[in-house]
Amino acid sequence: MKADPKVQRRLLDLQAIDTTLAQLAHRRRTLPERAELEALARELSALEDERVRAQVAVDDLDRDIARIEKDVDQVRARKSKDEARLASGSGPARELEAIQHELVSLNRRQSDLEDAELELMEQRETAQGVLDGVESRIAAARERRAATEQRRDETLAEIAKEEDFKRSARQPLAGDLPSDLVGLYDKIREDTGLGAALLTGGRCGGCRLELSGADLARIRKTDPEDVVRCEDCRRIMVRTNESGL
Ligand SMILES: [Zn+2]
Repeated sequence: MKADPKVQRRLLDLQAIDTTLAQLAHRRRTLPERAELEALARELSALEDERVRAQVAVDDLDRDIARIEKDVDQVRARKSKDEARLASGSGPARELEAIQHELVSLNRRQSDLEDAELELMEQRETAQGVLDGVESRIAAARERRAATEQRRDETLAEIAKEEDFKRSARQPLAGDLPSDLVGLYDKIREDTGLGAALLTGGRCGGCRLELSGADLARIRKTDPEDVVRCEDCRRIMVRTNESGL
């Protein structure tokens, strides 16, 4: 393949743009925010499980407390009924005595129930504290997630802007060059990441290997219009005054 040496040199400008585009794509793929967000998602999922468990503990205690309160209400109702009977003073003495006995036992029962309720309420306070703690950790993790997402989106927008800028520079440059040359360049670049490199100081800019004296002698004799490729990495070697020929 033949191309004007000036045209060949412009391949290096194209390669500079393509290298930047490849770096931008790599940056997008490897944003640290991606790994951070994955870790945050795992953390939030574990915290959600913890929150469910803490909520169940609170709900269980609420149910137990409600049950005791219902029992206390029953005891109180029974007591007022008994007290009303005693206050009326009507009925046989034995029956009134039995009511007094019952009142003693009802008072004891009420006091036991109230002690048990107090204990459950203390447990509930502890369980609520656990739940509140989990919820504030969830809120903090969500804030971190929102901040990380924002940072990621800002960086992605920045990358997209730079890509647009580079692509708009690439299009006219590639369009100016002979299509067979660009085609060859693109094919090598897709295979190796680098289509063209400067031959500098007797060394291929693509694979960094030093060319043998025989190779250099051969290239020296080659028509400047000939497109020369590296024997090792097959990339297009662009020749300039710095090529060491
Ligand atoms: Zn090479």
